[in-house]
Amino acid sequence: MPTCYVCDCEITENNTYEEHIILNALGGKLVSPSIICATCAKNFDSIDTSLSNQLNFAGLFLDIKRDRGKNPNIKVKQDITGKEFLLKAGGKPFTVRPIIDNQQDGRIFIKAKDENEMRTVLNGLKRKNPWIQDIDIEGIINKANRGQEYLDQPFTINIQLDNTTFRAICKMITSFYMQNGGNRQNILHLLPYILGESQVNSVFHYYPDRTLTSTNDSFQILHQLFIQGNSTEKIIYGYVELFSTFKFLVIISDDYNGNDFYKAYSFDVINRVQIEPDINLNLCKDSILEIKESQQENINKFQEALNEFKFFIYQKQSEQHISDIVQESIDDLFTDIQESAIPSQDRVREDFTT
Ligand SMILES: [Zn+2]
Repeated sequence: MPTCYVCDCEITENNTYEEHIILNALGGKLVSPSIICATCAKNFDSIDTSLSNQLNFAGLFLDIKRDRGKNPNIKVKQDITGKEFLLKAGGKPFTVRPIIDNQQDGRIFIKAKDENEMRTVLNGLKRKNPWIQDIDIEGIINKANRGQEYLDQPFTINIQLDNTTFRAICKMITSFYMQNGGNRQNILHLLPYILGESQVNSVFHYYPDRTLTSTNDSFQILHQLFIQGNSTEKIIYGYVELFSTFKFLVIISDDYNGNDFYKAYSFDVINRVQIEPDINLNLCKDSILEIKESQQENINKFQEALNEFKFFIYQKQSEQHISDIVQESIDDLFTDIQESAIPSQDRVREDFTT
């Protein structure tokens, strides 16, 4: 009978819980029904939510599918203009509030995210201004310019990787260790920390010298987990990498008396498939201590990794923008062909020079 690694009760069909070892909210697919009971699972809701709130933007930008639920929209602020946008799946921006601009010549410029919002704004203007009682709202909406906006300016996302995040990371690697036949005695001391009852200094930022994995000219965005037990060094440690960008080292036990082992897991986040892991850290106790001592250096590397991630998103968005433009001009051309059988030369030239 499997037991819950938190409370040690037997897991039966009455209290089984499908634990997403890497959060569903982050697009994780690695699950286990036999490591945490349903009762204990509830105690982790707050740390899981905290972690997913911090990293949600990554899944949203990459338009990652989840097993359950959708990526929630997030708010970002452009660095230069200070304009606020809401981003939806794929990082498509829309304005948080409609823009209503009274122009000098008496005209009113309105920018809204969709027809419904435009209708609301026009109805509001009509109510407040008796002199435009007779405007034809649907007529205006029909004549309005439609367009898509892309984030062509840098934007800021606030990420706070705090103690709560670290506890969620610790739980993730502990679950991975236990799913792979780990011994509960080796993780008992971590439980009060994961549950927020005590403090341990076991989770660190860690950036091995490797950037976003690049194979066959295309980037891969990975979630990776790695654990190693080393009998000579008497240590078990784990490594967590999320979206190829957020990377942590966790000391699971520094008083280990078992056999050597290691286990790695790699997941291609965009294509949602498990891939052959290419990861073997093989760290000794001294290098782990060194990593623990050099957190500032690793935080700087975190900033670099984040910038790299932002650049990747930016490129992905630009590609999307280009394919949208191409699609639009093909659609236009196709409409012409349908209507007039042969597109005029001018039309063709115009479309392909867009
Ligand atoms: Zn339990």
